[in-house]
Amino acid sequence: MATKPTILILGAGYGGMVTATKIAKEFGHSDANVTLISKHNYHYQTTWLHEPAAGTMHPDRTRMPVDSVINRNKIHFLQDEVEEIKKEENKVILKETGEMEFDYLVTALGAVPETFGVEGVFEHAFSKWTVNGVREMKEHIEYLFAKYNNEPEPRDDYLTFVVAGAGFTGMEFIGELSERIPELCKDYDVPKNKVKMYVIEAAPTALPGFDPELVEYAMNLLENRGVEFKINKPISEVTADGVVLKDGEEIKSQTVIWATGVRGHPVIEKSGFENMRGRVKVEKDLRAPGEDNIFIIGDCSLMINEETERPYPPTAQIAMQQAETVSKNLLALIKGGELQEFTPDIKGTVASLGGKEAIGVVGNKKLYGTSANFMKKMIDNRYLWILGGAGLMLKKGKNPL
Ligand code: FAD
Ligand code: NAD
Repeated sequence: MATKPTILILGAGYGGMVTATKIAKEFGHSDANVTLISKHNYHYQTTWLHEPAAGTMHPDRTRMPVDSVINRNKIHFLQDEVEEIKKEENKVILKETGEMEFDYLVTALGAVPETFGVEGVFEHAFSKWTVNGVREMKEHIEYLFAKYNNEPEPRDDYLTFVVAGAGFTGMEFIGELSERIPELCKDYDVPKNKVKMYVIEAAPTALPGFDPELVEYAMNLLENRGVEFKINKPISEVTADGVVLKDGEEIKSQTVIWATGVRGHPVIEKSGFENMRGRVKVEKDLRAPGEDNIFIIGDCSLMINEETERPYPPTAQIAMQQAETVSKNLLALIKGGELQEFTPDIKGTVASLGGKEAIGVVGNKKLYGTSANFMKKMIDNRYLWILGGAGLMLKKGKNPL
């Protein structure tokens, strides 16, 4: 190994950005050559994407140039797309640059939509929770409103919006959309009663596993805004005309927003890591099993919660905490020292429901309405603080009131 080892960080999302930020703070100039590689020249906050998707926020507010945030004296940024990791050869294959060698690798490529084998999702539904993906959702929704009044016989399915999955993504999205519908109806001269919104969930409840009282609060609130829930009704197919449910019911819609969960990035499977739905069950020090120099964090990693014996859900909260441990473990590998074991410290879960509404559990406290909304915005702002201090928080942060 060269005297100054090479660290590659793949993906400039929550895991990758926080790893780069922590390395820049904790490493000396002579400790390592560090390159952060990501597909776009900007970092985007996946956790805000339901807002631009529904058009309640401009997409640019969710993103920032990577170079404007990282410490460029210590971290080199390369815009490129990772195609494969050759773990035996300590190389990554990039679309433009070709091969790049590493001594240590941090893989933080995030997730892709899970379909659970439902046909027609990629052809007919909107499933990309990325900046470009949500731009398409927003433009499509507005286009249908515009189209409605230009047709001699406008069809009901133009203004029928289906959300697949009442997990946190589906609920946050419908929260934003239901909040925006009155404004869209006014702007496009469409009577409100022409709009239909469905949330379709396979499990016996919305937000399975979450506090039932808060789930009821959220459902009542959304129903009052005109949302209809279809619970315990798995979608079995998406077609050009809408969705087909397992019980045979069909809902005609030109807009199906897919939010039935995620799987780890396809590069994981392609690179031959043992995985479950694209996620690698990592060791306690966050290395891939059998690999001395490859860490996997964020949505590509899988960790079992020993209390529930179930995997921790893939969240930004965990990705950021893992990034802190990884930066310490990299330093220990390079300079000598004990590697730390990672244990998630789950502070809680807060979900926005559009406008000034939200629900959440923080510690063992339940939060509703404006207090949950305040907490959600503080969580969003805290991330910006971790990444870029007060400057970034003031520039990009949300007003919690
Ligand atoms: P990401 O943050 O997704 O980053 C992956 C990065 O890799 C991206 O920059 C991407 O462009 C890049 N990339 C992808 N493919 C390639 C490639 N081939 N080559 C190079 N670069 C590539 N979690 C919470 O904890 N709290 C929340 O409130 C919350 N809200 C959410 C709301 C929505 C709408 C969604 C969709 C998710 C939400 N999540 C939330 C989950 C959270 O966003 C993810 O768990 C988190 O983003 C995972 O971080 P990551 O670093 O693994 O991946
Ligand atoms: P999820 O797995 O949390 O929810 C997906 C939902 O889709 C589940 O309720 C599932 O039963 C349902 N589903 C699956 N197949 C279906 C089908 N064929 N028809 C109808 N319903 C179906 O996934 P998500 O909401 O995409 O969230 C992904 C990750 O991001 C999770 O870990 C989540 O916790 C996290 N997240 C967190 C927040 C927050 O903390 N505010 C917000 C969004 C996402």
